[in-house]
Amino acid sequence: MTGENPFDVLIIGGGGAGMTAALYASRAKLSTVLFEKMTPGGQIATTDVVENYPGFPEGITGPEIAARMEDQARRYGTQIVFKEIKALSRSAHLFEVRTAKEIFSGKAVVLACGASFRMLQVPGERELTGRGVSYCATCDGAFFKDKEIIVVGGGDSALQESLFLTRFASRVTVVHRRDQLRASPILQERAKKDPKIGFLWDSVIEKIEGPTKVSGVALRNVKTQALTPFRTDGVFIFIGHTPNSSFLQGFVDCDDKGYVKVTAGFETSVKGVFAAGEIRQGAVRQLVSACGDGCGAALAAQAYLDE
Ligand code: NAP
Repeated sequence: MTGENPFDVLIIGGGGAGMTAALYASRAKLSTVLFEKMTPGGQIATTDVVENYPGFPEGITGPEIAARMEDQARRYGTQIVFKEIKALSRSAHLFEVRTAKEIFSGKAVVLACGASFRMLQVPGERELTGRGVSYCATCDGAFFKDKEIIVVGGGDSALQESLFLTRFASRVTVVHRRDQLRASPILQERAKKDPKIGFLWDSVIEKIEGPTKVSGVALRNVKTQALTPFRTDGVFIFIGHTPNSSFLQGFVDCDDKGYVKVTAGFETSVKGVFAAGEIRQGAVRQLVSACGDGCGAALAAQAYLDE
């Protein structure tokens, strides 16, 4: 692909931001290729139900809206390549992205590579991932039928996924490091009313016990420092995200957390490279805003190409 027939727009990431950027770019008759390393939809693909995307008053499942976005982008000519982008560079007037084996070139780039779940970084976590430790309720929830599980975190993800996990688990204990939740009031209200959900406040997990599958955790109360064992069959971790920007370091300016800095017009420190969705600094991390970003970045790329 190098050098021949460069695309107008290269889009890195197939979540809401990337799919919307692809839709707008391809409808503007720009030759568009989108790279996705896993499943179309990004984080939304592993979300049970989306209740706050306008136009779906009854809600819509994450996989369904993701599939619809993919169909819509393809319908106008977007090519989708299921490969991970390892590097982005500039050569003369073109940008180049590299997968493990190929190079694709383009005139403008939209970074929509999102963020990945954050790990607790405690002993036992890595070893027991897939053996009781999980970061995806829709993927793994069914393995915990009639089991007792812990959910770590106090944000929207933790509560939304706790509510989902009550379909399977006999008991869901939310372990939160403070005594106040970060989650939106509507999710707090639902979770607090649910008879299967309980809360352990001011608590952090110090260790996940195995050896071959999760059998319990060591909990520390951050106020009293007391360390207590807690029996559980599973640990679901929803403690936020880190940006997927390691391959961009040194190419575009990022903040100290790794989020890409952009202007109000979605342009990064490199002219012709735009960023949309959770990868950019200051994103509000909602599907609807990610899609709005994708639209804005595609229009900005179009204006850049018109210049
Ligand atoms: P988040 O809002 O950043 O919340 C992360 C939670 O994990 C916080 O409660 C935080 O505690 C806790 N935490 C962070 N690091 C921790 C650590 N090392 N150990 C223990 N706890 C830790 O992340 P999120 O819930 O994934 O949500 C991300 C974004 O997506 C948010 O903007 C959210 O509104 C959005 N979202 C929306 C929906 C929805 O609208 N239905 C659903 C899911 C996500 P502190 O509170 O003490 O910082």
